[in-house]
Order: sequence, then structure tokens, then C-alpha cells
Amino acid sequence: MLLAPCSLLPNATLQENIMSLTDAEKNRYARHFTLPEVGSEGQEKLKASSVLCIGTGGLGSPIALYLAAAGVGKIGLVDDDKVEASNLQRQIIHGESWIGKSKLDSAKSRLLETNPHIEVVTHHARFTAANAIEIAQDYDVIIDGTDNFPTRYLSNDVSFLLKKPNVYGSIFRFEGQMSVFAPHLGGPCYRCMLPEPPDPGSVPSCAEAGVLGVLPGIIGSLQAMEAIKLLLGAGKPPLGKLLHYDALNTEFRTFNLRKDPQCPLCGDNPTVTALIDYENFCGLTPPSTMTEITVTELRQKLDQGLDGILIDVRMQQEYDAARLEQSRHIPLPTIVNAASGLPKDQNLYIHCKGGVRSARACAQLADLGFTKLINIEGGLDAWREQIDPALPPA
Ligand SMILES: [Zn+2]
Repeated sequence: MLLAPCSLLPNATLQENIMSLTDAEKNRYARHFTLPEVGSEGQEKLKASSVLCIGTGGLGSPIALYLAAAGVGKIGLVDDDKVEASNLQRQIIHGESWIGKSKLDSAKSRLLETNPHIEVVTHHARFTAANAIEIAQDYDVIIDGTDNFPTRYLSNDVSFLLKKPNVYGSIFRFEGQMSVFAPHLGGPCYRCMLPEPPDPGSVPSCAEAGVLGVLPGIIGSLQAMEAIKLLLGAGKPPLGKLLHYDALNTEFRTFNLRKDPQCPLCGDNPTVTALIDYENFCGLTPPSTMTEITVTELRQKLDQGLDGILIDVRMQQEYDAARLEQSRHIPLPTIVNAASGLPKDQNLYIHCKGGVRSARACAQLADLGFTKLINIEGGLDAWREQIDPALPPA
């Protein structure tokens, strides 16, 4: 595979807009100046450059913190979540006093505390096909710190269409992987590696599978390093290489990835030439047989005597910590096996923590011929917020 010279950056504007450093900045970045790959010129390049970090969670925390500390001039953050206590074991950019508040406000405050000489731009939204181009076009490098399939494909596609490098990272329990996808510089894209998303439900989320907090710290730090190398034009980015880390056995391995001539995005006859519906592509569109009700409606129905079965699809430890008394517990990974014991002629009211996993449970049951599926919008979080604040957090 031919690797393009990695003085990626691309835009002539970057070269023209080199910004000189103040004395305070020169002092702050002194340890970078003695590195021949950085020096004052490299530091000025970093100051003139910009990175979009999608997500401010487990991966996004170290990514954004290290980019800020290193002096990347403009850091964009995209997220629409609030800080939760159960995030803090891995999302080290956030602290106790920010629980219940916007992740973006928390992250911005922490980044500017780390380095007041940078600009932090917050995009309070979910990163979707509707806003991705508009948000991403202003940045030199895109880093996916979200770790879910729809965003991974979206981040890959938008980066390809805008000819910007996409720094990919992914974690699962004690294992993680990282690569840089940038077909315009050489090598494959994410779709070459994984043409089809896995079946929804076949890959558990962090909430279901668990993740040791240090792991996203390691993978996110690797992503931050690759972004900085790309901005500096230092070393070689892992184009066409997938780095895999196995924490339990303390092993790093590198796999070669090949560009797929049949790739629908970067192949010889592309069929994906604009952004698509990524939820749908990943099989996450709610089934047509599913309806949704609010927690207030659920409360009324429970008060009147529920005309069906209430099912909680969260994991055991979440169920043990807090639950609705009337609920029957069927964790999402077991829902297909448990389906034979469920009646098809009764309403199945399904809830989880926030409404996403329960929608996936509905989709899996719909595939098995169930039609009376009712998803509880906002799940137990909404119940706690709107009905019963005394419900313990889970
Ligand atoms: Zn491709």
C-alpha cells in the first residue's frame, strides 16, 4: 500500500495562518520545543489547527484533555448528554459537581482550566447526518470518541466526503482498538474493514458489557496522539493498520487492513455518495409495530391495572439497584431466548434506563413476530425525573 506523505494538513490556510506564540505559551510548551518533530514551528501549527471530538465520554475525555494540554488551537466538542455519577469511573474530564449538568459545559470548563490559550467550541447536539457536514467542515481532523455503530459509520463517511482524517477508537470490556481512516492519504476506510454493521443486539453496549475505566483512557490517548501527529506531519499515521490492545494479557498487536475495491464509499464504484440514515443502516430504526408512551402514561396505566406485562431489559446489577415493583426482569441479551415464554396476544410494555435498549428489545421481539410492543420513552431516568425522585440511581 502506498502511504501518502503525512504532512496531511492539507489546507494551505493552515500554513498561511501560522500564529505566533505568546511568552506564556512558549513557557507552557517548553518540553515540546526540544522535540525536533515539534519545535516552535510545530507548536505554532498546533495552535493554528483544529480538531473535532465527537463525544465527551470515556474516549472523549482523554482525547480532549490531551489535545487541550498539547495546545491544539481549536477543539470542537459534540454531545447532548448530561453527566451521570456512573460516568465518572471512566469519563475523567467530568467531576462530581457537574452531575446532572451538561457534559459539554463541564468539558469546556475543564479544558479551559487545563489551557486557557485555546478555543473550545461546543456543539450541543447529537452528531447526525443532518448536522455532520456543517459541524465537521470547520475542522482539520475528526476524532470519533463515541463508540457506537451509527456514529462510527457517520464519522467515517463525513470524513471521507470532506477529505479529512478520521481517528477511530473502540473499546469492549478489557480490549480496545484504534486506527486512522483517511483514504485521501492512502489506506482503507472503516467500511472497508467492516462493510456491514453487526446485528443490533449482538454487540452489547458499555452499560451491558461493562468496561474497565482505564481502557478508554488508553485508547483515547492513542487517538489524541495520532491526531497530534497528523497535525504536525510527524511520523507515520496507522493508515491500513488496526492496533489492538488486550489489557488482560498486556498485548498490543497490529493487523493490516486492506482497501476494498468494492467498498461502497471509497471503492472503485461508490454507491454511498452522500450521508445516509445511519440508525436505519445499523438496524436501529424502531419497528413499525412498536409504539411509545411516556412515563406519565405508564404511571396512569399502572394505577388502573396494567393491560399487559411490564418488562425491564436492563442488566442484573442495574435491576438490583433500582426497579419498578411491577416489572418482570429480562436482560436484553437474553430477550430472544426468553421470547418463547412471552404471550404474543398481550401488550408488552418494555423499559430500560433511557429508552434505547428497550427499543432494541422491541426490534428483536418484532423480528420474532410480536406486534403489541410498547416502548417506555426515556425509561427509568425519565421515571425518576418526572414521577419518583426517590428512586435510587442505577
Ligand atoms: Zn472504504
